[in-house]
Amino acid sequence: MVAVLAPVAPALAGGEVNIYSYRQPDLIQPLLDRFTKETGIRANVVTASAGLEERIAAEGEFSPADILLSVDVGRLENAKALGITQPIESKVVEQNIPAIYRDPDHGWVGLTMRGRVFYASRERVKEEKLSYEDLIRPEWKGRLCTRSGQHVYNIGLFANLIANDGVGEATKIVEGIRDNLAMKPSGDDRAQAKAIWAGECDLALGNTYYVGLMETDTREPEQQEWAKAMRVIFPNSDGRGTEVNISGVVLAKNAPNKANALKLIEFLTSDEAQEIYADVNFEYPVKPGLKPNKVIQDLGTMKPDPLPMWELAKYRKQASEIVDKVDFDGGPQN
Ligand code: FE
Repeated sequence: MVAVLAPVAPALAGGEVNIYSYRQPDLIQPLLDRFTKETGIRANVVTASAGLEERIAAEGEFSPADILLSVDVGRLENAKALGITQPIESKVVEQNIPAIYRDPDHGWVGLTMRGRVFYASRERVKEEKLSYEDLIRPEWKGRLCTRSGQHVYNIGLFANLIANDGVGEATKIVEGIRDNLAMKPSGDDRAQAKAIWAGECDLALGNTYYVGLMETDTREPEQQEWAKAMRVIFPNSDGRGTEVNISGVVLAKNAPNKANALKLIEFLTSDEAQEIYADVNFEYPVKPGLKPNKVIQDLGTMKPDPLPMWELAKYRKQASEIVDKVDFDGGPQN
C-alpha cells in the first residue's frame, strides 16, 4: 500500500474524512476549511485528473476513500456501475437537492450545475433567442464551432437531444450541426471563444462557467479578450430550457469514515456550502433559491431543462454511437 493520505496535522476530535477528487484543490479547499472549522473533522484530499474510480476499485476493501467528487452525470453513473459506491441515505440531502439532480437509487448526488450554452459573436450574431434545433438551419452554414463530439460535455448535450427529440431527430441534428461547422471539432470550450474572437466562427457550444473563468483569467489575460468578443445565448429558453449537467458526489463502498462522509455530503448541500462551491468555479447551485457568482448572474437567467439527470445518463451510449456513425469529428460532409 502506498501511504497517500499521510496526516499533516494533529488528530482532531472529530476524526477525519478522505476525499478523492477530480475537482481541483483550490475549488474545494475553502469549503473543506469551513467544514473542518464547524465539525472538527479533518478533510484529507487526493486529486487526480483520471483513474480515481479504478484506484478505488483496485484498493478494494482497504480503500481509504470515503467520497469521490466528480464532474458529469456520466462519470457519476460510471462510478456506480463499477460497484465502488454505496447508497447515500440522508433526509437532509433529499430535502436540499431536487430529485432531478439525484440518483433515484441514491448512488450519486448532484452538487453544482452548469449549462451548455451558445457563445455568440457580439459582432456577427444578431439573434437573441436560439434553440439547439436551430443550429441545423442553412443560415449557420460554415459558422459553427465546437470541441470533439465525443467529449463528455457534448455527449451530455446529444443525450439530452435524444431524450427530448427522439433518436431519429437527434441523429439529424447532430449531422446538421456537423455540416454547419466552420472547421473540424478541436480544442476545448475556451478555444471556441478564441475562434469567435479570431473571426473563425460565429457561434459555438460552451459551458457557462468558462465565461467566468475567461473573464477573470489574470494568468492569461488574452482570454478576457476572447470573452469580450462573445455573449451567451441560453438555448431553448422559450421552450424546455437549456441542457444542464452536474458535478456531484458518491459515497465509497468501503468508506472507513462513513458517518463523517455523510456529514460532509450533507454539509455540501447546505445553503452556505452550495453558494461557495458554485461560486468558486462560476457554476450554479443545485439547491433552489440560491444565486451564482455575479459574473454568471450578469449572463442572464438560465432556465434549466427539467430532464432528470439519470434520464440524460441513459442516452449517453446512444449519443456516442451517433457521433461515431455520422463521423461528427470529421467535420462537414455536405
Ligand atoms: Fe470543464
